[in-house]
Amino acid sequence: MSLTNLQIADLLARSADQAESYRQRAYRKASRSALAWVEEARDVLDGGRSLTELPGVGDKLARRIEGWMNQAPEVGDPPESRTGFSTRSVSSAIVEGHPEWREAINADLQMHTTYSDGTVSIEGMAEAARALGYSYVAITDHSQGLKVAGGMTPDEMRMQAREIAEVNDALSDSGFRVLHALEMNIAPSGEGDTDPGDLEGLDLVLGSFHSSLQTDKDQTYRYLAAVRNPNFHVLGHPRGRMYGTRAGLHANWKKVFAEAAKVGKAVEIDCNPNRQDLNAELAARAVEAGCYISIGTDSHYIHELDYMDMGIATVLAAGAPRERILNYMSADELLAWVADR
Ligand SMILES: [Zn+2]
Repeated sequence: MSLTNLQIADLLARSADQAESYRQRAYRKASRSALAWVEEARDVLDGGRSLTELPGVGDKLARRIEGWMNQAPEVGDPPESRTGFSTRSVSSAIVEGHPEWREAINADLQMHTTYSDGTVSIEGMAEAARALGYSYVAITDHSQGLKVAGGMTPDEMRMQAREIAEVNDALSDSGFRVLHALEMNIAPSGEGDTDPGDLEGLDLVLGSFHSSLQTDKDQTYRYLAAVRNPNFHVLGHPRGRMYGTRAGLHANWKKVFAEAAKVGKAVEIDCNPNRQDLNAELAARAVEAGCYISIGTDSHYIHELDYMDMGIATVLAAGAPRERILNYMSADELLAWVADR
C-alpha cells in the first residue's frame, strides 16, 4: 500500500482542518510543501531513508505520514480548492522523458526581487538563472497597487530600470540578458494600476488579478475587459487559485481564450506548485483556442527557479507547440513579439 505526494498533501490539509489552531499552521505548511517535494515519499521509504529528508517534515510528521502509508485511509474527493493539481515529483518525471524541452527553453518569465516581495537582488536572480542555462529572464516585480507585496511606484520602477541596465552591462560578455518587466495589478474592471506612460520603457508587462478572488460567481466580464486592455501582454496566473485556500475564479474560458487569441495576448502558466495556474486541462483549452503561452516560476527565492518543470510538464500535457510559447523565443524574438502587440 502506498500514497502519492498529492494524496499526502490532501491528507495533511485534512489534518489541518481538524487540528488545534497551533498545529493547523504546521499541517497547512506541510501540505503545501508536499506538492513541491522533488521525490515521491514512497520512493524515499522504499530506499530505506527517512521522510525527514523531505523539506518541512519533522519526526512527528514523518511518523504520521508513515502511518497513512501503511493504512491508506479512505477519504472522499478533495474540495475544489485542492482539485486539479499535479505535483513537482510527477512533473519532473514527465520532463525527464522529454529532456529536449528543458534544454531548448530560453527564459523564465516571472520572478520577483527585493524591489517588491522577492528575497534576492536583481543580480542574484540573474546569476542564478544564468547558472540554470537560461539566456534571459524577465524580472516582474509588483506594481504600486499591491501594497502587501511592496509594489513599486513609478519612481521605484525607474530606479529598477537603471539597476537592470547596470546588471546587463556587467553581463554583456556572457550573452545573458535581464528584461525589465512588471507584474501589474489589474482591478476587476480590467484596468491596470499604473499609467500607460510609466509602462513605456518596459520590455514586457504581465497583468494579474490579486483582489476579489474568493467569489464563485462567473467572472467572464473581468477577463474580457482585462484581455482587451492593450497595456499589458501576458495575463498572469489567470485564475488566482491557491492550493487549499482558494479555488480560483470561474469564467467561460472558451470565450476568454478566444478573445485572448484574437487580440494576441498570452496566458500564463505559473509554475508555483501551489498555483499551477493554468493547469494542464485549462492550458490545453487555451492552446486549442490559439493562445500564446508564457511560463513563469513566479520565484521569490532562488530555489523556486527550479519549479520550471511544473510549467514544462503542463505545456507537454497541453500539447502546446513551441512556436506559441514565449519562453522558447529568443530575447530579440520576444521583444519583437511585444512590439507587435
Ligand atoms: Zn501575482
